[in-house]
Order: sequence, then C-alpha cells, then structure tokens
Amino acid sequence: MAAPLDLRFLLSATEVGQLPATSAEVAVVGRSNVGKSSLVNALAHRRNLAHVSKSPGRTQLLNCFEVDGRATLVDLPGYGFAAAPGRVRATWQGMIEGYLLGREALEVVLVLVDGEIGPTPLDVQMLDWLDANDLTRRVVATKHDKVRSTKRDKRKRELAEACGLSPGEVVWVSAVKGTGVDRLRDLVRGWLGLY
Ligand code: GDP
Repeated sequence: MAAPLDLRFLLSATEVGQLPATSAEVAVVGRSNVGKSSLVNALAHRRNLAHVSKSPGRTQLLNCFEVDGRATLVDLPGYGFAAAPGRVRATWQGMIEGYLLGREALEVVLVLVDGEIGPTPLDVQMLDWLDANDLTRRVVATKHDKVRSTKRDKRKRELAEACGLSPGEVVWVSAVKGTGVDRLRDLVRGWLGLY
C-alpha cells in the first residue's frame, strides 16, 4: 500500500507569480461537484484538508499544498458555474490559463471527470485546450462506487472514448471506498519525482 501523501496547505494565490518555488507540481482541475476536494482528502487520508479550498473566499483561488515536504500540488478552482456572470467567469479563466501556461514546474494536470455521468462538454473543452497547449494531462474518473459493478467495464470504455483515450489510460477512483487511491498516490509521486 502507498503511504498517504503528506499534504500541507501552503497558500492561496490569485496569480501564478504568487506561488512558491517548487521542484515539481501537479495540478488538479474539474467542474464543481466532481469530487475534487474529496479526492485530495483521500490522497492525504485526511478528512478536512481540502476544505481549506472550499472555505469562503478560496473557492476561486489557486490553492497550493506541499507534497511530502518537497513538491507541490495546486487545487484549481472548479469550473462550470453556469450562473456566474460573464466577467467573473472571464477572470477565473484568465487566472487558470495564466497558471497553466505560466507554471514552469507543472508536470501533469489531473482532469477529474465524474465517473457516474462521464465527461461534460466543459470537461472535453478543457482536455482539448490542454492538448492544444501541449500540457501533459491525465484523466481521473471519480465516484467509482456510484456505478454498479456490472456496468463498470462499459462505463469505463465509454468514458475513455469520450476523452479520446483507451480504457487503460483512465484511473478510476472512489474517495468514499478508497478504490484506485493507492494507484493514484503512486502515479502522483512518480510525476513529482518523489521516489
Ligand atoms: P468538489 O466540488 O469537486 O470539490 O466535490 P466534493 O469533493 O465536494 O464532492 C461533491 C459531492 O460528491 C459530495 O457530496 C461528495 O460527498 C460526493 N463524492 C465525492 N467523491 C465521491 C465518491 O468517490 N463516491 C461518492 N459516492 N460520492 C462522492
């Protein structure tokens, strides 16, 4: 079993220039409610860690955590608040794009996709945008426990295909049951050069 990631909240930033120097970084992105905070908590085996990212005033910021004392993870604001006024959306987009294009230490972007409902058009847009900008991304499907076991193979194939991947390229996790969390910890440590 992979040890939980030792995650410590460092700071919230409004732009990439405010983030600390780091050896390597992983970013986590997804639409709101996809299960991002639950997954960050599960990676660290902590109950409330990512709630810092959900506290008032922080949901729209770049929330930076130290990983195992050497590298960093950035929790990006959830996208897909259709109700947000255009100007607010434009500000988030500017901040996220500025971060993704400007962070030199960024190794991998984890794009979370809801395993129960599959990728939304916004998720596909995000994947296409990352590809167009030559950023390395991995798709992590969430909520494995919410899909009946008899339907999982088919769902995984469909989800992978909708993301332009083969099923083996999708990591499917459950923050509730712990499924796939160990494997994802291993992958994250590998990308961050922590082995
Ligand atoms: P965020 O907005 O992306 O940070 O999403 P949250 O982590 O707050 O999760 C959104 C909702 O999905 C909450 O009600 C969680 O309890 C639920 N959720 C998150 N991960 C899982 C999971 O692996 N399994 C199940 N059944 N529910 C989950």
